Amino acid sequence: MAFKFIPGIDYIYPSGGSSGQAFVYRGDRLLVKTTDQGPAPLAADDLDGTLPIAGTQRLALGRIGGEICWAHRLGDDWQPPPDWHFEGLRNLFGRLADAPMAAAGYGLQIVKWLEAHRFCGRCGAPTALGRGARMLQCTGCDHILFPQVSPAVIVAVVSKGRLLLARAGRFAGRMFSVIAGYVEPGETLEECVRREVSEEVGLQIGRIRYFGSQPWPFTGSLMVAFTAMHTGGAIAVDHNEILEAGWFAPQDLPEIPGKMSIARQLIDWFVAQYGTNRI
Ligand SMILES: [Zn+2]
Repeated sequence: MAFKFIPGIDYIYPSGGSSGQAFVYRGDRLLVKTTDQGPAPLAADDLDGTLPIAGTQRLALGRIGGEICWAHRLGDDWQPPPDWHFEGLRNLFGRLADAPMAAAGYGLQIVKWLEAHRFCGRCGAPTALGRGARMLQCTGCDHILFPQVSPAVIVAVVSKGRLLLARAGRFAGRMFSVIAGYVEPGETLEECVRREVSEEVGLQIGRIRYFGSQPWPFTGSLMVAFTAMHTGGAIAVDHNEILEAGWFAPQDLPEIPGKMSIARQLIDWFVAQYGTNRI
């Protein structure tokens, strides 16, 4: 079972019914049931008479297994019952099934987008959910807004059987990862890959190959992943975004990101290609 968009469905439709799963947010955290098997998504009918959601907008996200799933946003002045709790979305990776996790990530981006676009940037009038498409429309000038996605690249650079890993100032602890950065307007993905590697660690690269992509709900990004080979230059970190960087053999990796990220999928690809004795 997968989470799927439904062609032609907008965030309002269908207005009735309370079947399916419900994704209720407070900030970046999701309301889940506390069960012996771990956190579980709420069913839409769990909310009947339970939440102070009257007057808040309920958003149709898409379908899981034929049933509509919904997103809600809650204020701070409500405490969940003892067998429900709020949990950060990152902590739920691997503990919720793939379909509700995908819906939860999408729903989080949509509720954050709605909150940030309550008024039209062109004329200042309030916006409202549009009909017939997943969009907001200005009530004053009819300006249309679609949810924003920020493309970003992430690249595994290899040299002589070793992988380039860097420690960014924003990372927790001693974690190292592959190079990543946001695409500038007017830039191709390949140009962005070359620029980010050059800016952050001073290297030239070639043989840039597409690897895969992953939506990243926490920043509203679409991560587009590549592999590449080092072709010139020595590591020179910028000491701004990147604090240290180096070449790592498959059997000698530092602390790396968790399994949920495409960064880790790139590192696992490197180990599968160049390593023999590490899983
Ligand atoms: Zn307007």
